[in-house]
Amino acid sequence: MRAVLVGPPGAGKGTQAQILAEELSVPKVSTGDIFRANVSGGTELGKKAKEFMDRGDLVPDEVTNAMVKDRLAQDDATEGFLLDGFPRNVPQAQTLKGMLSDLGSGLDVVLELRVDEEEVVKRLSGRRSCPECGRVYHVEYDAPRSEGKCDNEGAELYQREDDREETIRHRLKVYREQTAPLVEFYAAEGLLATIAATGSVAEVTARAKAAIAEKRSAA
Ligand code: ADP
Ligand code: AMP
Repeated sequence: MRAVLVGPPGAGKGTQAQILAEELSVPKVSTGDIFRANVSGGTELGKKAKEFMDRGDLVPDEVTNAMVKDRLAQDDATEGFLLDGFPRNVPQAQTLKGMLSDLGSGLDVVLELRVDEEEVVKRLSGRRSCPECGRVYHVEYDAPRSEGKCDNEGAELYQREDDREETIRHRLKVYREQTAPLVEFYAAEGLLATIAATGSVAEVTARAKAAIAEKRSAA
């Protein structure tokens, strides 16, 4: 299965991608995670991306598209993937379409997670992430078993630099202006399934699975 998750920052894409990827036996491909790994590893790619990420702007398309092309060419992604955070504008969506069609394939479903901006600000201000496995938590809504430590390997959780209120507001503006048009783009392609991303993590997962199954059976 080849699927994309779309929604504003804080909608729960990473949280759901982690669960759904495991259930659907496809790799989760998160462009944000790949960028952050490159920034902390001090690579050339990380150096190119850092200033944009710190401001909450999109990393330029030529850098992002090349990185995704490399990632999707890896063996584990040939049979399917779950993209989280890519595409983030219409030109990236067109590039993805071209990339997949060159490989003789295409997307099966684009799942839109809908949630209002005030909820997103609450979610992002309490987000904590694991530097080892990328799992995300929330200090209140999805707390780790032991405070400040990842349930998986006990690593110290950290707060993302771009999860400060001012940067969050800017990222939401970038979403509205550049990413939200993807919803119409994918609706026109007949790929869009939209769900409410409110309620518990488990409730959202159940809605997501039902929406994906319905879309695939209709295809
Ligand atoms: P995104 O990848 O879309 O930016 P995340 O998956 O990182 O979003 O989630 C953002 C924050 O919201 C995290 O702290 C996460 O634990 C929390 N979160 C995710 N889903 C829910 C939910 N259904 N209810 C409450 N908080 C949630
Ligand atoms: P995320 O982890 O999805 O919230 O992404 C964190 C940051 O990484 C974003 O604010 C952007 O700076 C950058 N980023 C992630 N995905 C993309 C993308 N598809 N295009 C451009 N920039 C991206």
